[in-house]
Amino acid sequence: MPTVTLPSRSVPVLAEAEVVVCGGGPAGIAAALAAKRAGRSVVLVEQSGILGGMGTGGLVPAFIVMGDGERVLADGICREVVDGLASRMGVTPNYQWQNIQPELLKSLYDDLVTAAGIELYLGLGGVEALLEGNRLAALVVATRQGLKIVCGQVFVDATGDGNLSAWSGAAYDLGDAEGKTMSPSLCVQYAGVDWDAYRQGVGNGNSDRAVWHRLMDAGTAPVAERHFVGFFRNGTGIGTGNLGHIYGVNGIDEKDITRGYVEGRQIARKIHQFYRERVPGFAQSELVNTAAVLSVRETRRVRGDYQLCYDDYLRRASFPDEIGRFAYPIDIHSSTSDPKEQEAVERRLDETRLKRGESYGIPYRALLPQGIANLLVAGRCISCDREVQSSLRVMPGCFVTGQAAGCAAALAVASAGETRRVAVGELQDLLRQQGAYLRD
Ligand SMILES: Cc1cc2nc3c(=O)[nH]c(=O)nc-3n(C[C@H](O)[C@H](O)[C@H](O)COP(=O)(O)OP(=O)(O)OC[C@H]3O[C@@H](n4cnc5c(N)ncnc54)[C@H](O)[C@@H]3O)c2cc1C
Repeated sequence: MPTVTLPSRSVPVLAEAEVVVCGGGPAGIAAALAAKRAGRSVVLVEQSGILGGMGTGGLVPAFIVMGDGERVLADGICREVVDGLASRMGVTPNYQWQNIQPELLKSLYDDLVTAAGIELYLGLGGVEALLEGNRLAALVVATRQGLKIVCGQVFVDATGDGNLSAWSGAAYDLGDAEGKTMSPSLCVQYAGVDWDAYRQGVGNGNSDRAVWHRLMDAGTAPVAERHFVGFFRNGTGIGTGNLGHIYGVNGIDEKDITRGYVEGRQIARKIHQFYRERVPGFAQSELVNTAAVLSVRETRRVRGDYQLCYDDYLRRASFPDEIGRFAYPIDIHSSTSDPKEQEAVERRLDETRLKRGESYGIPYRALLPQGIANLLVAGRCISCDREVQSSLRVMPGCFVTGQAAGCAAALAVASAGETRRVAVGELQDLLRQQGAYLRD
């Protein structure tokens, strides 16, 4: 690709805080709240107009598997969010599978972040890192008036894609050995669903998945999709669906992302037609929304001081610098429509499920991008291999690493922002004070 050198120029300082969080998804919200509650000034920068990342803008249907079957592992901020959402939805919180009503979740996040006194910027994308030696001095942001900067002592990369880490020069991995990543989806919302009729259909062996699989077997499904996730109720007559994969999309490539949206909306219309014609309770349903944000499962995994790996998952590892534990199984969606690969996904999910009471630890070092003194990474782009990423990427896991990154950032302020000078014992104490689960 040809390059052009931009002229150097002075740009205004938009904001300054002790802790700057880039990205307002589950990880970024948790990081910002944790740092603020630990007494630090915090700026939170989110490129879209909404907080919540995939769980709101991406219409991801549910918070899944917060615990190990015996206790809630994603305790603290994740539990607070799920409790708050359930209360607004008028249901009892479910820590295994909490369906999301996206508008209620958006307003809950707005309330939590603004009530905490976090300096929030929506519709403001970070575009570049300003480095001074091995320190990140500022985040460059794109405003409607041109570039501005946000200065801080400690930064948290909660962009999901590891953007800030990559701009800072941190090494990262992407996908499998060939660079292939899990396929994204474009989640959808329908209105006008008759849930009573659907429940009756399920009782008669006609759940959406069952009907879909019959069409796949007969070779008459509207799109090739062996791994069919499904549609979930989240209100009277409404629901959201995680339906259809978009193949061959690299989630950090501009052209691929554009194709992802266009193809995603085409797939959404085809699958909705299937629901209307074939699934009990959906005859009068309307496709009212496709996600504003392409639902990307996997992009960069930033290389940190420790790379959490599948072997750690298998041996249910514990670490002296543990900042949390998690238990969701290995869930690597296929990068292709190959039916064999697609069938293997759900098999592996079942085969790798940990037993009741089992979990694996997450070390603090997995949040420390190599070579940068005052940067933490949180959420689905932390330092791990593909297997562990496919487990930790679900939202409760992202809350766990986000809350830990926020607490660590708050403590690092006392050491000129140096994240590696944070005393692990102090970090673990602060996390416990904030309600996080850590093994004794
Ligand atoms: C189709 C699909 C279905 C899923 N289903 C489930 C499910 O059922 N349950 C579950 O728990 N998890 C599910 N997940 C996983 C989960 O939703 C995500 O992995 C999780 O939201 C990641 O959290 P995060 O905070 O790391 O990133 P994200 O949720 O992606 O949030 C990152 C935020 O950073 C912002 N951002 C990015 N770049 C910049 C920038 N340069 N400047 C400012 N802001 C920026 C983004 O706009 C976004 O708001 C699913 C994911 C997908 C894709």
